Amino acid sequence: MRASADANGSGGQRRSLRVRTAEDQRSHVPVHVVWEITLACNLKCGHCGSRAGKRRANELSTAECIDVVRQLAAAGTREITLIGGEAYLRRDWLEIAAEIARHGIHCGVQTGARGLTRERIAKAHAAGVRAIGVSVDGLRDLHDSLRGVAGSHDQAIRAIHDIRDVGIEPGVNTQINARSMHQLPQIFDEIVAAGAKYWQVQLTVAMGNAVDNSAILLQPHQIIDVVDCLAGLYHRGRDLGLRLLPGNSIGYFGRHEPHWRSMTSDIEHWSGCTAGETTLGLEADGTIKGCPSLPKSHFAGGESRSTSIDEALRNLAARTVRRDGNRGRSFCGSCYYWNTCRGGCTWVSHVLEGKRGDNPYCYYRATTLAKRGLREKIVKVAEAPDEPFAVGRFEVRLERVDGSRAPRSLGLDDKRRKRGRLVLCQSCEEYIYAGERLCPHCGASSGNHPGDPSAADDQLALDLRKSIDEVERHGRRILEIAAMPGENEQMPSPE
Ligand code: SF4
Ligand code: SF4
Repeated sequence: MRASADANGSGGQRRSLRVRTAEDQRSHVPVHVVWEITLACNLKCGHCGSRAGKRRANELSTAECIDVVRQLAAAGTREITLIGGEAYLRRDWLEIAAEIARHGIHCGVQTGARGLTRERIAKAHAAGVRAIGVSVDGLRDLHDSLRGVAGSHDQAIRAIHDIRDVGIEPGVNTQINARSMHQLPQIFDEIVAAGAKYWQVQLTVAMGNAVDNSAILLQPHQIIDVVDCLAGLYHRGRDLGLRLLPGNSIGYFGRHEPHWRSMTSDIEHWSGCTAGETTLGLEADGTIKGCPSLPKSHFAGGESRSTSIDEALRNLAARTVRRDGNRGRSFCGSCYYWNTCRGGCTWVSHVLEGKRGDNPYCYYRATTLAKRGLREKIVKVAEAPDEPFAVGRFEVRLERVDGSRAPRSLGLDDKRRKRGRLVLCQSCEEYIYAGERLCPHCGASSGNHPGDPSAADDQLALDLRKSIDEVERHGRRILEIAAMPGENEQMPSPE
């Protein structure tokens, strides 16, 4: 099992730990580290990017792991997520977790949960693990099929109950692909019933086993249906105590962005990949990468047996993991949001065509193309080698919605690239750059240009929208309660 940099989603406390301050960004503090402590795994996932199964030949010793924790603590890390393979297949995993907790770093674990017994969970809690995210990729038959082991779904659901009962905040991580996208509402119902408190969703990305099984990958134009569905579930989740967290691979902007991307109650939007800057990934052999999902062939900053964490951060900064992105003619390269977004998740774009900063799995890109009767699809043109984090090769083809080929020149953004602070259009509530006189999306007078006395504050607009959401949410809840049988129901109290 594998995970992305943000794979182990979080409840409120961890989410706020991950908020990057200006100082974090300036000093490249590795705020969140995702650490594959072993490549051993007891599942056989058809989408596994790291091709986990057997442990690596040269995994770090306990003493070497303890030293890595000490260095990360000194570098300012606030959160470490242990992954695998399956992290608890390493005999000393609780020692490592306890050392992380001893340094005051929030320790989470991401797991497929096959064999994650209540006893193991209780020991993890005693060692200082404070969050466990369980992978649930579909209802029973689909999950077992994707994970390659019969019974793995039921074990995952049981683990969520056990995690909650032991006193750790239970979360769920779901891979979204062409098979699971249709089950998202049912997965939502199932994990709410099991007691999950947060739900991190992310795309199955074309790497490792997922290249072999490329038929399961979403086509880029399907991101519109996926995001519209997820945004609806995000609002339902707020009613039911489940926080839906869109992963970094779920791109970007459009009408849902102000509501669901924020890590805090403040207005917030996607602001680009943090690989190698405030995010780090570690492989079990000590390879230090800008992000756990990226292949070491292009994105390693060193190896912990010979390179310190500080040195690796400097190496990664010198290589500007995300910034040497797309400069050619592409939608991202011409995109209105380029200077904020830089083509979204480096991992998603790199594994397709070997380019950083050109990402077809983007809501803004897909919806803009759809308005012109266009869409994009990916076609595999080369297999991935049989090694961890292996990358194949795909072509991204532009076509008309009826499947006929479209001229490439139609695939560019027709709005001018801008830079600066993003604010909300008062009319369509999409992000626009401060100072726009007319919204480039809906054409309305934006009310955000400097000096305009009628300009409303964008935070005020979001607060108003949130207040309306709250009123609607309570209204729905009151109607639900009114429709329930029984005499003991209480009216919802204001939060
Ligand atoms: S089209 Fe590319 S640059 Fe523009 S918002 Fe989407 S991912 Fe970012
Ligand atoms: S490549 Fe960047 S955006 Fe993508 S998962 Fe890694 S850190 Fe996040």
